[in-house]
Amino acid sequence: MDSKIYDVMILGGGPAGLAAGLYAGRSKLSVLIIEKGIDGGQIAITHDIENYPGQPKVDGMSGQELVAPMTAQCKKFGCERVSDTITACDFSGTIKKLIGSKGEYLAKSVIVCTGAMTRSIGCKNEAKYVGKGVSYCAVCDANFFEDFEIYVVGGNGIAAEESLYLSKYARKLTMLHKGSSLAVTPAMKQEIEENPKINVMCDVVVEDLGGDELLSEIVIRNVKTGELTTLTADEEDGFFGLFGFTGKKTTGMFDGILDMEGGYIKTNEKMETNVPGVYAAGDVRVTPLRQVVTACADGAIAAMQCGKYINTIK
Ligand SMILES: Cc1cc2nc3c(=O)[nH]c(=O)nc-3n(C[C@H](O)[C@H](O)[C@H](O)COP(=O)(O)OP(=O)(O)OC[C@H]3O[C@@H](n4cnc5c(N)ncnc54)[C@H](O)[C@@H]3O)c2cc1C
Repeated sequence: MDSKIYDVMILGGGPAGLAAGLYAGRSKLSVLIIEKGIDGGQIAITHDIENYPGQPKVDGMSGQELVAPMTAQCKKFGCERVSDTITACDFSGTIKKLIGSKGEYLAKSVIVCTGAMTRSIGCKNEAKYVGKGVSYCAVCDANFFEDFEIYVVGGNGIAAEESLYLSKYARKLTMLHKGSSLAVTPAMKQEIEENPKINVMCDVVVEDLGGDELLSEIVIRNVKTGELTTLTADEEDGFFGLFGFTGKKTTGMFDGILDMEGGYIKTNEKMETNVPGVYAAGDVRVTPLRQVVTACADGAIAAMQCGKYINTIK
């Protein structure tokens, strides 16, 4: 066990965790960042990002390229690192404990930055077309499908909201829903029905995806009849978009320990959770927008709050 007591432990090395590390380290706090995989979290697997303000390559860059300087900044300001998967926590005392598969870690404050994972659509060949037609984020990728045809998987309020957003870009948009009617409010249903670009196909699930380099075929199955239909991209377009909005999941580790809402950690605007000294930042918290820029902003706020909190317990 590492018995050092840090000022701040940051759980997760995605954009929120790295921004928190930068701000905490630069504030002369002792910092431990715990990450189970590679830095960058969800953005590390993204091929093309073009909406991070001030990014060095305006025409787009990979998530890994964007994140590498964030990691370097944490290093520059003295953040220590450990590669471990945290499986449990003890926030009952003044000194907080995170328990991983390799050891236990102690600090006066904790910032939870464990992010959220998109649920996959669950069809064959899905992984092959992520970033090549398949997306899970309208704000991130709508731009790439300007004037193209888009399919959306999902039939709840989030899928409907994202479809309305995407319809500003798409030439035509079809919602693919496994239920027999959309699970949305009457007002939302009306908005969808009145949108001339949006069409809804009910009782269908996506079975398989195809295409040479980019996604150009979607095989759907009617859940009532079992009939398979292949949707093919217009020849002139060559490809289309498929957005999955079947939900996100976060770690369940903090259920019953931190106040949650819909699987996400509740915070106030200072990123404080209901437990003093424990903060949450980025996609893991209840927030209206889950993007790199908002995750970084959350991380910065949480780090500065940790500094203030530590002064109160000295
Ligand atoms: C395909 C895709 C494309 C996207 N495109 C864009 C885009 O173009 N622009 C944009 O702004 N945003 C985009 N996003 C959203 C963006 O990636 C997220 O909003 C952002 O990464 C959230 O940062 P985060 O630090 O809160 O969480 P995450 O990025 O999810 O990072 C969480 C980190 O915590 C680690 N972790 C989790 N649990 C544990 C544990 N128990 N122990 C140790 N470590 C743990 C994970 O390994 C991960 O590295 C995209 C997301 C996806 C999935």
